[in-house]
Formats: sequence, structure tokens, C-alpha cells
Amino acid sequence: MNRLLDRFCRYARVFTQADEAAKGYPSSPGQLDLGRMLAAELRDLGARDVEHDAHGIVWATLPATVPHAAPAIAWIAHVDTSPETSGKNVRPVVHADYDGRDIVLPGDPSRVLRVADNPDLAALKGKTIVTTDGTTLLGADDKAGVAVIMEAARELLRRPEWPHGPIRVCFTCDEEIGHGVDHVDLGKLGAVVGYTLDGGGAGEIDGETFSADLATVTVRGVNIHPSIGKGRMVNAVRLAGLFLNRMPRVCQSPETTEGREGFLHPYRVEGGVAEVTLRVLLRDFDTPKLAERAELLRAVARTITAEFPGAAVDVRVTPQYRNMADGLKKEPRALALAERAMRQAGLQPKLTIVRGGTDGSRLTEMGLPTPNLSTGEHNPHSPLEWTCLEEMETAVRVLLELARVWGEER
Ligand SMILES: [Zn+2]
Repeated sequence: MNRLLDRFCRYARVFTQADEAAKGYPSSPGQLDLGRMLAAELRDLGARDVEHDAHGIVWATLPATVPHAAPAIAWIAHVDTSPETSGKNVRPVVHADYDGRDIVLPGDPSRVLRVADNPDLAALKGKTIVTTDGTTLLGADDKAGVAVIMEAARELLRRPEWPHGPIRVCFTCDEEIGHGVDHVDLGKLGAVVGYTLDGGGAGEIDGETFSADLATVTVRGVNIHPSIGKGRMVNAVRLAGLFLNRMPRVCQSPETTEGREGFLHPYRVEGGVAEVTLRVLLRDFDTPKLAERAELLRAVARTITAEFPGAAVDVRVTPQYRNMADGLKKEPRALALAERAMRQAGLQPKLTIVRGGTDGSRLTEMGLPTPNLSTGEHNPHSPLEWTCLEEMETAVRVLLELARVWGEER
């Protein structure tokens, strides 16, 4: 079997689904299992400074092979998978020499990967496609990235003649629940730029992401036995419904926006008559616009509080991450050398924007410019997730070229 494919499938089978409800870090024990496995494999490959730290993060160094002091760069991927779809008992299905037709997933034939919905598939006829069996996600987000980094590390460690500066490898936990870099110490990482391997398809460089805030809306009512509720009960469930109804729906929503448009996205409701909590995502490429969206939520809160005596609606906004484009300006080589590496790997690089965030958005904000590179992901967070072996192989080549072009720098 192809070594990269085997590697990917091995990692995909480990149950590393992030758990938003968990208190500890990482949020699920499987992430530690995969981390241990990766640390052991890195040691076997001959990497230096291999460490699986107390937070479950894996660190390693691929020592420089050039004689001059080339800048250190970091390759980063996350071991966890999204809680949106189960990641338990992942059974990757390999479709060698893909015939270009719709793919019926064997574990749940009601799920079909249709070429019409996946234009990228049409171009990959004859390639090796990996899907789920239809009952779980695949976890190519981001085990494709993990496998690509591990394979590139192996190549560099067994080819001392390949010129490159120091490379730091870092595998993080809990990216999918917004905690990917909580315990990443940039001093310890010691790199001038980072690259996350967590992008879709092949040949893309994400240099811009959303800026993101989370609004927690608490609707407090007055709970009293329904039999004596007349004139006294203030039902927070109804008011929460009203709140949602008054939020923009035909615009400023994920369902109605694309490209550079931002949105407000209510994604969770919890509670009862006395109190309901709504969680709303605020997203925009233009960071100051987040404040305008938050103000819109506060305006809705004020109307409800004014109309229903006894009710209290509170909107609390916490920052999540910021558009990486601003932070990338301070190190123009971060994007320029990624583009050069892709050309040297035979690709026509495409600069793209992400309607979301990555570990890189937060790392960039913290001071480490970190664009995101393609690693063969498709349909993340879904049972229809798939990847392509040849795209992963391309990503390995890009990393080798990236190592070389940074090795020419001072
Ligand atoms: Zn990811």
C-alpha cells in the first residue's frame, strides 16, 4: 500500500473528535492517543526535540541542512476532528483509479457523493479518492495535514542533501472548538513564520480569514407555575424565539451570503421558561463591522426588554479570532515564498480567502504570520467528506519546496 495513504488511514481511524462540553484539555482522550503515536513516529524518523507535552501538543525539530543561519519555519496541523459529525469508528474507503462517477457510500447507501455537487471530483478521474463509509466524517480535516507533514518530515530526514533551514513541527489539539493555540508558546516554537496544513484541494494559499466574535445572548424571564401564570409569567422561551425572529434572516446570514460578505449565525439554543441562552457567531472580513453586528443584537435586546416588563436580555460579546491578512503584512515572505514553493512544485498557486478561521488566524494575531495551505480536504465536518491521495502527495512536494526556498533566506 502507498505509505502516505496508509499513514492517512491510520491517523483517520483514531477517535479524536473534539468535545465542546469537556472541561479538560485536550477535550477528548483520543487526541492524546494520536499525539503519542505521532511523537513515537517522529522519534523513529530521527526528528529532534520530540515532545508530547502536558497539553497534548506534539513538538519536533527537523534540523537545518544548510550551513548558514536560515530562518526557522513551522509546519502546523491539528489532530482533533469536528464535533459536528461523529468521528468514532471511522472506516476510510479507498477508491483507487476513481471512475469519475457518483460514489455511493457503503455504510449508508442513502449518502451519495455526487459529481454534480462536487465539481472537484470530476477533475480527479483516475486518481485515488478516499471517502467515509457514510456513517462518520473522514477527518481529512485535519489528518490529511498531519499525514502530509509527517511524510514531508520523513523525506527531509532521510535526505540530508536537500537544502533547508530549521523546521519546527507542531501538532495542536481542539482546533475545531476554538482552542487550537491556547497552549502554543510562540517562544518555544521559535519560528519566523508558520504554515497550517489545513486547506482544501490543491494549490491554494489562504491569506485571509474572517474576523470572528461570539455573542452569548441571555434571555431571562419570570418562571411561575402555569396555573397561576396570568399576568405574571414572562416566558424566556417565547422571548428567545422573538429574538431570533427579529435577527436578520434574508440577509446577513450564512444561508444568504458568500464571498466577502459577513453574517450573524445563531447556532445554539439552551434553556427553559426562566432563562434561555442563545449563541450567535459574528463574522466579517472587515473587523470593525463586527461591532456593528453586535450593536444590531443589542438593539434587538433593547426592544424586547422594553416591550416585556420583567424580562432582561443581555448580550455579551467575546472575541474569537481576527482576519490574518493584517498580520501577514509584517512578513511578506510568508505568502511570497509559499507561492514560489507551489510554482516549483508544478502548481499555479491561487490566493484564497477563508469564510472561517484556522489555527493560523490566531497565531498570526499572536505575532506568528501563518497562512494556510491546501492539503486535499473536501467537504469537511460531514459524512460526505473526502480526500484525494494525489492532492496530498502534491502538498508533500509543496512542503519540500517550501523548506528549500526558506533555506535560501537569511
Ligand atoms: Zn481543520
